[in-house]
Amino acid sequence: MTTVTANGTPRRKFIGMNVIIKKDRSAWLQGPSAKCSAVPGEHKHPWRLILLGAPGVGKGTQAELLTGRLDVCHLSTGDVFRAAGERLDRDQSPAMKEALEYMRRGELVPDSTVWEMVRERSSCILDCGGFILDGFPRTLGQAESLKELMEQEKLSLSAVVNYELPLDEIVRRLSGRRTCGKCKSVFHVTERRPKAEAVCDHCGGRLYQREDDRPEAITVRLEAYERSTAPLIQFYKDLGLLLPIVATGSPGEIVAQTMDKLDELAAQRGDGDDRRTTLHLAPKL
Ligand code: AMP
Repeated sequence: MTTVTANGTPRRKFIGMNVIIKKDRSAWLQGPSAKCSAVPGEHKHPWRLILLGAPGVGKGTQAELLTGRLDVCHLSTGDVFRAAGERLDRDQSPAMKEALEYMRRGELVPDSTVWEMVRERSSCILDCGGFILDGFPRTLGQAESLKELMEQEKLSLSAVVNYELPLDEIVRRLSGRRTCGKCKSVFHVTERRPKAEAVCDHCGGRLYQREDDRPEAITVRLEAYERSTAPLIQFYKDLGLLLPIVATGSPGEIVAQTMDKLDELAAQRGDGDDRRTTLHLAPKL
């Protein structure tokens, strides 16, 4: 939000680059029967973004950091599977149980299951103002289905941000990642350490290592990425939507870079003013 000083000069509201503004995601995580307590405000040009990049490049962290800045919903398919995995066995559908088995092995869940789950939650994509899709689409089939769904509603994507990182750095990031069991915030054993050992800074929940962040699953996930997800880069490049970003540096530096690129894009399209609720400055944290 831009506030105005007494002499009428616009004043930017500054927030730190590492600040995470958590939003309610009940409808996305639990399905259409759940309602979110707050949804993004009305924007003439809401951001509709996809984050691409190999597992471990920091898409989840960037999605969390960008969500509050752009006033959008963070829609992660991996988080939906993890939320389902925490439910009682009897509350899990056979398709979800099967999906969780794929996930534990680090393999991609079949397109039909993923699409069924996303389609059930399509109001989060079509009616929620703006969104950041994180971990979806992951195959060309999923990308085509999403394109069709959005075209039916005459909606278009704003951009597809592709985070790029060398392989050895990806492995280091994944194996050191720790996730909060309660609010799903992400930390790292060396780079983004919680204030207290294994305790979440935001909600006090226990931090744990995701099953699919263990070494044997990491290899499988990276192979799945190369085979199925990397071709999406060309798909979105051909549609003129790709925004490449080198994902080295701290989360604050990467989010600053991302915001700068999105600002440039909005300025080129002449629709920058309306989109952002919280302006950023560039302190390198
Ligand atoms: P993520 O948190 O995005 O890394 O997702 C964790 C795991 O959930 C992946 O390794 C897959 O097993 C599964 N998954 C999440 N999203 C998808 C998707 N769009 N397509 C297939 N599998 C997915």
